[in-house]
Formats: sequence, structure tokens, C-alpha cells
Amino acid sequence: MPQNTDALIARYRDVVERFSQANRLDCASLLAVSKTFPKEDLLTVALAGQRSFGENYAQEGCDKVRWFKDNHPELSLVWHFIGPLQSNKTRMVAEHFDWVQSVNRLKIAQRLNDQRPESMKPLNVLVEVNIDDETTKSGASVEELPILCEAIQKMPRLKLRGLMAIPEPRETSEERMIPLRAMRLLFDRYRERFGFDTLSMGMTHDMLEALSCGATLVRIGTAIFGGRDYSKKH
Ligand SMILES: *Cc1c(COP(=O)(O)O)cnc(C)c1O
Repeated sequence: MPQNTDALIARYRDVVERFSQANRLDCASLLAVSKTFPKEDLLTVALAGQRSFGENYAQEGCDKVRWFKDNHPELSLVWHFIGPLQSNKTRMVAEHFDWVQSVNRLKIAQRLNDQRPESMKPLNVLVEVNIDDETTKSGASVEELPILCEAIQKMPRLKLRGLMAIPEPRETSEERMIPLRAMRLLFDRYRERFGFDTLSMGMTHDMLEALSCGATLVRIGTAIFGGRDYSKKH
């Protein structure tokens, strides 16, 4: 069900306000993470001025991309795939999205490159880094990062833009900054070598910390759209 548009616009404006105040140097941009929300809600936020949207599920995301391309091409929305990506879903993602932030291994990068249609611009990609080094998390390790980046850099249908991370939730602001600072150091270390311009980190619970640690793209879902209801899908 679409939500009350006034309440949604108010939440969006509030996030934009807080984001803008923290983004004093104007180095960062805001990605609206819209997974599980209906296209009507995305339209409300798009009409309020938001241009870039992040989606986590291949089928749901591609349906939304297609709907907006067919019904609101004038909005020129930019679509980021930010969820875990399995091999059997790479084709539909390569055919619909502008960015993939969750590239974490060579096989996925190779498939995205091979499947990106010639009629589209090269696909912008970020390598997801497992900055907390948890065995359960899906990003590339800090050790394998340069090898993976070197391989992606050679792929003609991909454009390597930088790094992405999803640090574990932590109690205090100071603790939250530890992995965020580590990401910024990693980003700076490889920035010139790989031509990085994008560091994607920061969600609803750590947006301000991420901006203060040098994020260039923050991914905000809950603070804009409200809590997610996973019971109906996925
Ligand atoms: C869902 C999601 C977000 C948004 O998280 P919120 O806490 O709702 O702001 C950001 N990044 C990724 C990768 C996500 O899956």
C-alpha cells in the first residue's frame, strides 16, 4: 500500500535537511533506498526532488526501473543495485541498472561485463568491501581488493567508480567511526591507482558519522520511507 504522501514528503525533507547540514563541503550525495516500497512511494520522493534510488532485489528493482522508464522518462532517475547479487540474476541487473554497488567477486563482475547491452553506457560499479572481516559477510576482503579492482578496470563494459561497505551496527558513535575511517583510508589508498570517485557508506543509523568520515554517497532507507515490512515478499 502506498503511504500518506504528506508524511513521506516531510520525512524526506527532514533527511535532506540533516544531510545538507552535514554535507558542508558538498562532496556527498544522497541515495534513497526504496526496497520493499511500492512505486507510488518512489514517485512521491522523486517528485519532491530525489533522483537516485537504491534497490536490493533484482526482480523487484527491474520492475520499478521499467515502470519509471515507461511512465516517467522525464524524471531521468538513476538506479543503483545495492543488494547481494547471485549469478543467475546478473543479466537482468546488467540490462536495467545504472550502478551496481555490491560487486564482491570476479565471476559477478565478469558476468555483468559480458551481459551489459552495447546500447547502454558502461555499468558503474563499486566493489563491496568486507571491512569488518566477518566470515558471514559477503564483501571482498581488503587483501583481495586490489586484484579484483585490477581485473574490473580491464573490463570494457564496466566503469569502476569506487568502494562500498556495510559495517556491522555498533553501539556508540565513536565505535561506528572505526570501520568508516578504515574505509576512507582504503579509498584514499587506491583512489589514484583505480580512478575512484565514489565511497558509498552510511545508512540511517550512521549517516552523520559516514559523512564526517568522508563518504561521498550515503544510502538512506528507513529515515525516508519508514520501517520496512518484509512479510509480503522475499
Ligand atoms: C537496506 C539498505 C540500506 C538502507 O538502510 P536503512 O537502515 O533503512 O537506511 C542501505 N544499504 C544497503 C546495502 C541496504 O541493504
